[in-house]
Amino acid sequence: MREYNADLHFHGPYSGGVSKNMLLPVIAEQAQLKGLHICSTADILHNEWLKHVKQNLKEEENGIFGIEGREIKFIVGTELQDVNRVHHLVYLPDIASAENLRERLLKFGNLDGYGNGRPRLKTNAEQTAEIVKDCNGIMGPAHAFTPYFSIYAHFDSMLSCYGKMLSEIYFMELGLSADSYFADLIADNHNYQFITASDSHSPYPHRIGREFTRIKMKEPDFKSLRHALREREEALITLNAGLDPREGKYHLSACNKCYTKFSMLEAEAFKWKCPKCKATIKKGVRDRIFELANYKEENHPKFRPPYMHILSLAEIIQISLAAKIVQAPEVQTLWRNFVDAFGNEINAVIDAPLEELAKVHSETAKNIESFRKGYVIYIPGGGGQYGTPVICKSKEEMAQKQKELEKEISGKSEFSGQKTLGEF
Ligand SMILES: [Zn+2]
Ligand SMILES: [Zn+2]
Repeated sequence: MREYNADLHFHGPYSGGVSKNMLLPVIAEQAQLKGLHICSTADILHNEWLKHVKQNLKEEENGIFGIEGREIKFIVGTELQDVNRVHHLVYLPDIASAENLRERLLKFGNLDGYGNGRPRLKTNAEQTAEIVKDCNGIMGPAHAFTPYFSIYAHFDSMLSCYGKMLSEIYFMELGLSADSYFADLIADNHNYQFITASDSHSPYPHRIGREFTRIKMKEPDFKSLRHALREREEALITLNAGLDPREGKYHLSACNKCYTKFSMLEAEAFKWKCPKCKATIKKGVRDRIFELANYKEENHPKFRPPYMHILSLAEIIQISLAAKIVQAPEVQTLWRNFVDAFGNEINAVIDAPLEELAKVHSETAKNIESFRKGYVIYIPGGGGQYGTPVICKSKEEMAQKQKELEKEISGKSEFSGQKTLGEF
């Protein structure tokens, strides 16, 4: 057994709003530079993408899928949407199972054409899970708490969503706006392994692998993945890594047009209509979780691994260079210098010695040091707008900036008690 860093959720160009460059050779290259070992094939039910997968991936022995010239392996999978607008992640043992599932689902929705990489099905979660099981696949909720397309947007419990298929569900994806601290406040969630994944729509290094799951596996294949998810007492998921939930787009309740943030009380008083622009206030992941929470304090099942809040190297470099956008050429060039020096991004951000990092760029090394010490505050996201990390030089500066931030944001009293950066 060894540990693998896996990003098991992103999309190809046939899902809406995805970069034309999200092709397997590019994904494989970027994922490897990030420090990932396993990716999902994504969008496997789409006819054109399926062709692309068959052209680019080669099945090695034992159902392991590789790509020429790279170490990275792929697990066959997709995301799909059910009739209740809940998104689910699906993983399958091989291409034949995917083709079989495709056949079975053809009559329940358009699987092909532009925008259907993540197909919208006419079946509910229970029916879908049954068909997936028939095709030897596994399924679980995607980004379980987001306000538009998730189980907890439309249901109050896993049982009410999955019905008699509940016993076949072993995992849920947390999504960018939640972490284990928040998700485990709901007792029901103690029955599931958590997957952290990027849901990336572009191959930029601050997107792909921005969340990943570290999994102990015999082989980098479906069988070992299913085993790790199903046999949770063996604690084979060893790390969830991802954004601080405050960086996620839907963390706080906020207007989906002008992004003004509201506390639950305020939002209810305004009947979920923004008083400034009359658009809808979208309930944030934090508020939805507090609504359903059974625990008031941090509480986890024994098998739950630590959750590491990470910042992407490109974002740290952007801050260090005071660049306007993370895609700026000077940011991307320096990112490449770091990755070339340390093998991959995860190694540079989490493990590499600071003196060595300083030889590449001293300001970035200082910011990585501050990040490792946890000196980061966040202007929280909401309503579809990402949050923004602010790296501080010291504990004192962090406390000062946090205070200023709380003064600025409506609903401030609810911020103060929230757990900040770090593992548990
Ligand atoms: Zn989704
Ligand atoms: Zn508004």
